[in-house]
Amino acid sequence: MKFLCVLCVLCGSSFFAVALEREAFTITKYDLEIRLEPEQQRLGARGKITLRNDSAHPQKIAALQISSSLNWRSIRVDGKAVQYVSQPYLSDIDHTGALSEAIVTLPAEIKPKDFVEVEIGYEGVIPLDTTRLTRIGVPNDIARHSSWDQISPSFTAVRGAGYVAWYPITTESADFSEGNSLFEVVDRWKAREAGSEFKLGLSLSGRMPDATRTLLCGPEDRSSSAEAGKDREPRVECGWSPLGIVTPTFAMAEYVDESKPPLKLFSLPGHEAGAATYSSALEPAMKFVSEWFGQPSAPVAIADFADPNSAPFESGTLLMASMAVEDSKLAGINLVHELVHSALLSSRPWVYEGLAHFAEAMYRQQQGGRQAALDFLGLHRAAFLDSEKEVSAAKQKNPGQPLAGTFDETYYRSKAAYVWWMLRDMVGDDALKQAIGKYRAKNDDDKDPKYVEQLVEAAAKRDLAWFFDDWVYQDRGLPDFHVQSVHPWQTEKGVQFVTVTLENLGSAGAEVPFTILFEGGEITKRIEVRAKGTATTRVELPGTASEIVVNDGSVPESDLTNNVFKISTP
Ligand SMILES: [Zn+2]
Repeated sequence: MKFLCVLCVLCGSSFFAVALEREAFTITKYDLEIRLEPEQQRLGARGKITLRNDSAHPQKIAALQISSSLNWRSIRVDGKAVQYVSQPYLSDIDHTGALSEAIVTLPAEIKPKDFVEVEIGYEGVIPLDTTRLTRIGVPNDIARHSSWDQISPSFTAVRGAGYVAWYPITTESADFSEGNSLFEVVDRWKAREAGSEFKLGLSLSGRMPDATRTLLCGPEDRSSSAEAGKDREPRVECGWSPLGIVTPTFAMAEYVDESKPPLKLFSLPGHEAGAATYSSALEPAMKFVSEWFGQPSAPVAIADFADPNSAPFESGTLLMASMAVEDSKLAGINLVHELVHSALLSSRPWVYEGLAHFAEAMYRQQQGGRQAALDFLGLHRAAFLDSEKEVSAAKQKNPGQPLAGTFDETYYRSKAAYVWWMLRDMVGDDALKQAIGKYRAKNDDDKDPKYVEQLVEAAAKRDLAWFFDDWVYQDRGLPDFHVQSVHPWQTEKGVQFVTVTLENLGSAGAEVPFTILFEGGEITKRIEVRAKGTATTRVELPGTASEIVVNDGSVPESDLTNNVFKISTP
């Protein structure tokens, strides 16, 4: 409200403040030229953006926002400067906790669905800034590991919307301290921009006599390092069309290039041993990915961090991850993830990212067994557990985040990884491999929302409509299994049986494994228990049953405290 009042004073009209719809315009096209001056921690930008009025009313005012450490220099439409007022706007969508907002008066009203092209210029500095985290109480030395974005002479890495608004955005204020406010604003922004085009030219200003600095904005950029010629400034180009779930990101450092197609590997001096673990993990990772997802062929990149504690980040097919330590397990799963992207394209985030995370878990299984993989998946479960509990608590009044169309990372990464894992447990490796092998993102194959379901059903010869409905097309929260009843009994010939009834208190069905412990061993079976339903089965045992454990962790559940059932012996 504080900001609205500032506007009222500025414009002398309360109507103006009320009428400002910050998310009315979507930016459908970016064509930006960014010049970096690392010695000054500075960037200068110029270029064109195209705005589309996505609101229901004609709009004459557009609110364009960049990081608060940047300043607007010029805004023009049809070659003529337009009027704008530049103001700070508090929002945690930027690492500084604020934006420089230009309230632009367009030369003419833009009707709904109409476009306007705007020429823009802005500049400023991007130093490391942890404001939005420290002001909610995160200690600075911890905050800087996740809020690592900066331009600096030795190491530059800057992520886009949601981290640093180094290109214009149009958003309502986001607040880190208010529950999910920040994530809602960011997810909404990503959904609005998913179909947009982004073109970036990135150059280093000035000649660096000693420079061996590499500029990066993706694996397919046309790189030209300083070696390209002393009289030429290094420059790279990147493009995303459409943007999808990519957060445009750029980096610059004195990277050692150890690329081996399709992988581009950029490590920092002093991290040779860590980089070597990546090189030696490449071949087994390639072999594993090829068997499941096809031959990796599109370029992907992994780039090193100067601060070894920086939290890893993925922008499209560029992964930033520290190579400071020799961790062959981590190198293996990072490689597997990127190589899955190299092998399999999809415009569906839950397929594209979900399969990559699922592959990481399978690779863990190959190296450390099923339990290692389930422990690995368990780390993902925490990410979406709370929001799924809210969906369950709202008893279907909260539509949640259906996997098929979500832009929420925790869903299209973590929940999707589980969904693929459950499918594999249900249909087996061969059928799932066959379905994945037939998947084609191109040629309009993946147009039908049920395309993936049909591929898996055809390969498995099994009706999975209920599963896809509960887990992919709708968000029905999570299942909650418990043992409803157990009846041990014996035939006249002394063969022991146990009849088990499992109940699912949740609104999502699943096929769940359960293990019966008996004297001298255990036996595991699987059973399909639909939402709010029960299922009964009979198991023959070589000894007297003592305990039943439902779910080995392969099905994400809302409550795991009610999964063990002790069988009292009469
Ligand atoms: Zn990924």
